[in-house]
Amino acid sequence: ALDTAWAERWLRESARVIAEHRQELIDLDRAIGDGDHGENMDRGFAAIVAKFDEEPPASLAGALKMAAMMLMSKVGGAAGPLYGTAFLRASTAIGDAEALDGPAVARMLAAGRDGIVARGKAGPGDKTMVDAWTPAVDAAAGGADGHAALSAAADAAEAGAQATKPLVARKGRASYLGQRSAGHLDPGAVSTALILRAAVTATA
Ligand code: ADP
Ligand code: MG
Ligand code: MG
Repeated sequence: ALDTAWAERWLRESARVIAEHRQELIDLDRAIGDGDHGENMDRGFAAIVAKFDEEPPASLAGALKMAAMMLMSKVGGAAGPLYGTAFLRASTAIGDAEALDGPAVARMLAAGRDGIVARGKAGPGDKTMVDAWTPAVDAAAGGADGHAALSAAADAAEAGAQATKPLVARKGRASYLGQRSAGHLDPGAVSTALILRAAVTATA
């Protein structure tokens, strides 16, 4: 079931894969940004794990809210407030649900994506994490149950992240490069795909 224990596993698994891909995220951000995305994300997710070790989350929404607080306070840069807002809005969208079905997963992801867009004002095709979130939200909407929704979302996020490669960045630091931002994956879209895949891994 996609319950509190799942949410804790999701965030712990996210921390594990972000740590595993830390250097890759640094290298992607070095190509079109300032090279800190891997370090920023690893710091934030390690802080979530430390927080959970100290105080296990008592509810599904509580787990996501704790994650939001840690991401906002520890990640910094553009990604910290954006992911923090996503997890906070996702937490609010879940409300007091004890477990998520397909439509609830779709609502949670849509709320997260909407938070990122409200905060960062990027649209699809601007070569940001929105290019992973938006196809994920669309794909989750068709999920027969929670697991199917998450699995479709993770597949779509991975494809969306890969599809950022030829794009020219119109938002964030990479936009300063203009045409030279083309030919590289967007680091935030790649970290989004890792986090959504972790949500699927955590269901097992
Ligand atoms: P910074 O650019 O401040 O160093 P990070 O390197 O941690 O922050 O994060 C960069 C990522 O943040 C980008 O790859 C992109 O996906 C995302 N990003 C930047 N600006 C925006 C925005 N306005 N809207 C959505 N995502 C954005
Ligand atoms: Mg950066
Ligand atoms: Mg930075």
